[in-house]
Amino acid sequence: MEKQEVTTDILVIGSGLAGCMASYKLATKGKSVIVLEQGPQLDPKQIDEIFDKQTFNNSTSVSLVEVEKLQDGKRSTRYLPANVGGQANFYAAVSLRMRKQEFDKWPINYDDVEKYYSEAEKLLHVNGNCQDDPYDPPRSEALKNLDGVEMGPCAKLLKNAAQKCGMHPFSHPIAIDFHAGCKRCFVCNQRLCPFGAKFAPLRFYEKNHSLPIDVRPHHKAVEIQFDVQNDCKKVTGVKVYNIQTKQYIIFKAEKYIIASGAIQTPILLMKSGLDKSLPLIGKNLMVHSLGLVLGFFPFAINKAKDFEKWISITDFYFDDDNNVQGTIQQNEIMAPMYVLEKTPRWTHFFIKKFYYNISQFLVIAQDDALVENQVRLTGDDKIQVIQNSTADDIKRKKLLIKKAKKVLHKAGAWLTLSFGGLSVYHACGTCKMGKDKVDSVVDAKGKVWDTENLYVADASIMPTSSGVNPSLTIAANALRIADYVCHE
Ligand SMILES: Cc1cc2nc3c(=O)[nH]c(=O)nc-3n(C[C@H](O)[C@H](O)[C@H](O)COP(=O)(O)OP(=O)(O)OC[C@H]3O[C@@H](n4cnc5c(N)ncnc54)[C@H](O)[C@@H]3O)c2cc1C
Repeated sequence: MEKQEVTTDILVIGSGLAGCMASYKLATKGKSVIVLEQGPQLDPKQIDEIFDKQTFNNSTSVSLVEVEKLQDGKRSTRYLPANVGGQANFYAAVSLRMRKQEFDKWPINYDDVEKYYSEAEKLLHVNGNCQDDPYDPPRSEALKNLDGVEMGPCAKLLKNAAQKCGMHPFSHPIAIDFHAGCKRCFVCNQRLCPFGAKFAPLRFYEKNHSLPIDVRPHHKAVEIQFDVQNDCKKVTGVKVYNIQTKQYIIFKAEKYIIASGAIQTPILLMKSGLDKSLPLIGKNLMVHSLGLVLGFFPFAINKAKDFEKWISITDFYFDDDNNVQGTIQQNEIMAPMYVLEKTPRWTHFFIKKFYYNISQFLVIAQDDALVENQVRLTGDDKIQVIQNSTADDIKRKKLLIKKAKKVLHKAGAWLTLSFGGLSVYHACGTCKMGKDKVDSVVDAKGKVWDTENLYVADASIMPTSSGVNPSLTIAANALRIADYVCHE
């Protein structure tokens, strides 16, 4: 039964990084904003519990959305955190910009998004030595440098080894303020920082509580409702299920922004019937061609138990024809339990025996957008993602793995092991932005084609996955789209 009606200037669906940035921009422009979040809000006790468990996946406090993944013939179950703040509460916070020439494949230029990258970097407290990044794009404002912050011993060793291999490793931009109570935890990725040093949307909402942003946990948007006139749809309201009270409510606004993440945004649009006129909704899913490369050293390289996600290597970012390949990134070694969960069985003997002797690289290779790779609902209403790699995806990943192994061996590793990542955290492309309705879902301003007041502001609008981690680009685009929403 639809009981209540709630009104606001702008309704944002999803409280993750995209929803957080969009709502902040709108509220600072004087709009009243309601942010709907299907999951609960974490309290301080729960944050401590997640910290103790070392990964949100093993915590009982974090609400999770199950995703079935069919990747290259393998079936696995992945989980997305669904709390106020979404994934970025738990992310590793590496915050690289896409490179200028990559925007040739987008309907906007790098210059259209540059000022929003700067704004996002300030809001997220990003710092790093990007002047040493061989492909760092032009900046209107210098990034805060990491001067005075000393990287950990493992990173120093790897940096040195990479330099000896002729590469140009650099301290990557990261949304961690090392001067603001950071304890340099050995395990930082997968945890919500209890000291407030790592940017997290949850904290950002708390910090900006005086702005007119009303975050509503336990509120799941289930259907977008429209009036249709001359083939143009005007959203009249969103049907929302309050998970606590078990009641349906209609939320009404002047404009609506969907920021439910690249897996769940297309699901909501499909449930609202929009895929009938926009068949690319849910298609062109990209998740990056990810690889993990473990180096086993004859000594306890991680004995210091210091934070270990300091450097990236972008020397192989482009191939000779200027096609994007990707990035090699130092990756902290996770808690043993988690490492074992993510690695093939045959590696477990080595991992258990030599846990503190391991150092790790993550390779992030761009993956191609294929219409067959998609997000869909199964008959029993489960979310399923299909992701098959192309020969080029595999080639790019293999090259980066080879280079990562070279660095690990140069640093003294006597054995290296590599395997593919099955994560869905870097999902994008499922409501692709474009110049034409025929080959996209939203226009360059994030507005859904043939609608008057409906926008998408998360990673689903990205036409390419790029060779860097997505969060900074998500944040910058959400700020950019919110600017249009204010002024259109
Ligand atoms: C462990 C981990 C490490 C990562 N490390 C990095 C990194 O180092 N660098 C980087 O760039 N990226 C990283 N990422 C990825 C990055 O965090 C995500 O790409 C980004 O946070 C996505 O933000 P989003 O707002 O688009 O989506 P989400 O964070 O998924 O937020 C969407 C929110 O919408 C809610 N929602 C969905 N459907 C509905 C609905 N119908 N009604 C109401 N609410 C709904 C969800 O519950 C969720 O809270 C990492 C991610 C994880 C999980």
